[in-house]
Amino acid sequence: MKLSQSYFKTLREVPNEAEIPSHILLLRAGLIKKTAAGIYSYMPMGWRTIRKIENIIREEMDAKGSQEINTSVLQPGELWEESGRWSDYGPEMWRLNDRNGRGFCLGPTAEEVFTDIIRNDITSYRQLPLRLYQFSNKFRDEARPRFGMMRSRDFIMKDNYSFDKDEEGLEQSYQNMYEAYSNVFTRCGLTYRPVEADNGAIGGSGSHEFTALCEYGESEICYCDACDMATTIEKAACVDAKASDEEMLPLEKVHTPETKTIEAVADYLGVDQTKTLKALLFVTYDIEGKEDGYVAAFIRGDRELNMTKLVNALGIHPFSIEFADEEKMGEACGSVGGFTGPMGLHDCKIVVDSEIPGLRNLVAGACETDYHIKNVNYGRDYEADIVTDIKNLMEGDPCPICGAPVKHARGVEVGQIFKLGTKYSEPMGAIYKDENQQDHPIVMGCYGIGVSRTFQAIIDMPENHDENGIIWPMSVAPYHVIITVMKPDDEAQKEVAEKVYNELGKAGVEVILDDRKERPGVKFKDADLLGIPVRITVGRGAADGIIEYKLRRDADKEELTVDEGIAKAIEIVNAEKDGRIY
Ligand code: ATP
Ligand code: MG
Repeated sequence: MKLSQSYFKTLREVPNEAEIPSHILLLRAGLIKKTAAGIYSYMPMGWRTIRKIENIIREEMDAKGSQEINTSVLQPGELWEESGRWSDYGPEMWRLNDRNGRGFCLGPTAEEVFTDIIRNDITSYRQLPLRLYQFSNKFRDEARPRFGMMRSRDFIMKDNYSFDKDEEGLEQSYQNMYEAYSNVFTRCGLTYRPVEADNGAIGGSGSHEFTALCEYGESEICYCDACDMATTIEKAACVDAKASDEEMLPLEKVHTPETKTIEAVADYLGVDQTKTLKALLFVTYDIEGKEDGYVAAFIRGDRELNMTKLVNALGIHPFSIEFADEEKMGEACGSVGGFTGPMGLHDCKIVVDSEIPGLRNLVAGACETDYHIKNVNYGRDYEADIVTDIKNLMEGDPCPICGAPVKHARGVEVGQIFKLGTKYSEPMGAIYKDENQQDHPIVMGCYGIGVSRTFQAIIDMPENHDENGIIWPMSVAPYHVIITVMKPDDEAQKEVAEKVYNELGKAGVEVILDDRKERPGVKFKDADLLGIPVRITVGRGAADGIIEYKLRRDADKEELTVDEGIAKAIEIVNAEKDGRIY
């Protein structure tokens, strides 16, 4: 590819909208362009990398006996009604009507469509297992699209579905995908960790997320070095604080002016935050979006609330709960912003964290401005509608498996795999007959990779970028080699550059020839920004048959003869281009 004849535009300035390195670099290197909030177009170099990631995924899926198909992004609402998700999916789903008023959506995922496709064809145990996958754009009207392709509203996903006879078969399919995903992310140059995850809206039992480790990620994971516990923070079980053997002391109402936070009240009263009760207040909505009640959640003062656990405990959708308006909830339930305790609340659901009943003599809000109550005890002074674990497993807390201190890390969820069981096959009637002509629902699994999110996450890995730009791993680089010609008009340089270009091309190496009439400084900057793994510079030495060879990831440069340079480039490209570690 000759750059002088290509559509290629880099930016010197950091675009305003971009906050994290990968997003800044994708825009600056001209790999993507924003069309609207959360909606991007891929430019030629960016699209090449997307296709390389897709090909790695394709090879690994095919190797596990999965077959590629393609389904429409337009999905009929009727299928989603069969599974019950037409109403359950919530506001992230892009819904639309056809000219006759029939409901459709732009697929956010495709469990229903795949189940529908196979349900009339697969009727016998002899046809199982079956594994199908596709690449397609998925649409989710995210509440907060951000960080470019990390959380966009239109993104590329590889989704895979397995159909098995029984749980044992599913276990095998799941294991296969777990291995395939590990291979994919290794080959793409990610440092990642598979962690146990919550099933969320997809449903089913058992799930893992593959998290690419980087400080800018939106996911938080908890892990333990002493054992192999690793899980998303949403899913992490907690060890409750040891029950206290203190005597219950008499209640005491105390004046605590302007102590609206746990920190302030603990300071004011001279008690540890572990001796306080923190209230978090919510309003919930029904399926039509109308307010249908209030919830007060109580955790120990120094803890953090885990929203996923709270939502699961309440048995509601994540999108049907939000923080309550202080005044409105005060009128309805008697809460007082900053001074809410469980005593004095009415007309709201009370959810208490599992360790609270074991704790003694806590300080809680008095439901009265500037007052708290000391020595509040569960059971004696108040009760709850639900008592269950609703707290985050914090860094340093005991590991729920082995008790060693837990560690936290941030990352990007690049893929997730789920055991679905019969959640879709049962309501949608995907049934097979066994050896004895008995009917059974097909046992399913589903497996997703965010292709466009992976594309960006690769860049966020610390080893894959520096202050000058991207450093692509060979396996996903848009091109393997860039030939930078210092003076494209110089006959000797032109000749050498063409020779290198042609010979590398013949050897199957993907080459860019930077033959633009730009200053060398501009060309070097662009080559670094774009992150092409090997740079061959053709300059003054060309007349003597000498070129300069440099890897993007190393600072060193080497002067080599033209033939040596070509041989060296071919060697490294062949060694690294499929990303496998031999
Ligand atoms: P998240 O928790 O980040 O919203 P999710 O758990 O809802 O993601 P899945 O339904 O598991 O996502 O989708 C499979 C994969 O698709 C995810 O692992 C992720 O890599 C990718 N993905 C999901 N939502 C987005 C998005 N808005 N933009 C880009 N990629 C996404
Ligand atoms: Mg997920």
